[in-house]
Amino acid sequence: MCEPCSGPSETTNTTREPNALPTTPGVCPVNGQPGMPVPGQTVKALLAVSLRTLGDTEYRFCADEQCAVVYFSTDGSHLFTSADLRERVYQKERSTSTVWVCYCFRHTVGDVQTADHTTQQAIITDIVQGIQAGQCACDLRNPQGSCCLGNVRTLVKAHPAA
Ligand SMILES: [Zn+2]
Repeated sequence: MCEPCSGPSETTNTTREPNALPTTPGVCPVNGQPGMPVPGQTVKALLAVSLRTLGDTEYRFCADEQCAVVYFSTDGSHLFTSADLRERVYQKERSTSTVWVCYCFRHTVGDVQTADHTTQQAIITDIVQGIQAGQCACDLRNPQGSCCLGNVRTLVKAHPAA
């Protein structure tokens, strides 16, 4: 069961190797922006590469569309790009119609962009009802590791039906 649309919670990880890369903990080593904490289970579920490559560390999610990094360890020493994942990542391809914006109930960017107002609302209702029914598995299916509903609502606002 997911927690709908909880914002990025602050995870504190103050331990740092003496010779770690000169990055701020929790900041993407490529674009320098803070990443959202992501459950370890999400990283394991979404990676297409051997999990033997995983570091024994917490990971964060880089949501910047211009940055190739999807997951990085909080100390910046490990990173995974879109090419390492089993799913295409909405945040990295926000305008690609075939990419999922809702990974649990299978709604694509194109579904939302091309829908009329009634259909857009029906998509949101479908997701809300799925969450209420305990049918979502955001931590295992959505690369961001949390509920998609905020992304769907933002996408609807950006593409209001005529
Ligand atoms: Zn990044």
